[in-house]
Amino acid sequence: MSAQIISGKTVAAVVKDRVRKEVAALAAKGVEVGLATLLVGEDPASHVYVNYKHKDAKSVGITSIDVKLPADATQDDVFAAVDELNARQDVTGMIVQLPLPEGLDGEAAVERVLPTKDADGLHPFNLGRLVLGQPGPLPATPSGIMSMLDHYNIEIAGKVAVVVGRSFLVGRPMALMLGMKGTDATVIQAHSRTPDLAAVCRQADILVAAIGRPEMIDSQYVKPGAVVIDVGMNRSDDGLLGDVAFSEVSQVASAISPVPGGVGPMTRAALLTNTVRLAR
Ligand code: NDP
Repeated sequence: MSAQIISGKTVAAVVKDRVRKEVAALAAKGVEVGLATLLVGEDPASHVYVNYKHKDAKSVGITSIDVKLPADATQDDVFAAVDELNARQDVTGMIVQLPLPEGLDGEAAVERVLPTKDADGLHPFNLGRLVLGQPGPLPATPSGIMSMLDHYNIEIAGKVAVVVGRSFLVGRPMALMLGMKGTDATVIQAHSRTPDLAAVCRQADILVAAIGRPEMIDSQYVKPGAVVIDVGMNRSDDGLLGDVAFSEVSQVASAISPVPGGVGPMTRAALLTNTVRLAR
């Protein structure tokens, strides 16, 4: 079997078209949409991600505001920068690019962002609303994955979903969203202490790998016919690698998202969706 490719690139283009129209409609009513990014330090990958976010924003008519602090910034410097962006009228949404350099508390920085400007959907208030099933900005990566599953008409209700990873950024909100009333997967949340992970993963009709271990999920972890979503972004000498061994798993799965071109573009598209909704 050769799996169908779940192309985040394709779905992200559809989402961006929709956002572009929404931004134009808001502009016609005199509402400008402005996305600010706060980047601390010199991490090269973070610089690349932030540049992409500005490029994306521009491509849909969102004004972007780029704030950078040096690697030796203190927690108070970070809070001051967030406070300033919270106060600006032209900033309708913002993100704090994670991770922050060693010694700085990224979760505290995210908590400092006004929940009404939380474009990443990671503020505890908005995560709480997600737990309660109330509307609000959703964490961008799992939200992007849900849009991708929806676009490809992948049935979720009644299926067993295994999410490997339990970070607050990806794994935990992903498990919540798949198991929400109305979405109705039966969810298993696996992690580094899960015994016999391969056997657990083989129960999955939908397998989401959010681990950060290059190509760890091989065909031994995948039930024939499963849908496999690869969140991993692992930089190596061979380029960007996912958490899934794509060439062998694509022979077993019915559908699979590639790296690059899968979850990454959808995360960025979901950020734009959150930004325009916050402005509205
Ligand atoms: P974290 O490091 O915060 O979390 C990793 C999770 O994987 C943890 O819950 C950890 O378990 C679990 N884990 C680690 N090793 C194993 C193992 N051997 N077996 C089973 N579980 C394991 O990472 P993130 O969630 O932030 O990111 C995960 C991956 O997704 C990374 O590659 C990251 O770069 C990528 N990513 C991609 C995005 C995109 O847009 N495509 C966006 C965000 C992240 P435990 O809790 O027990 O430690």
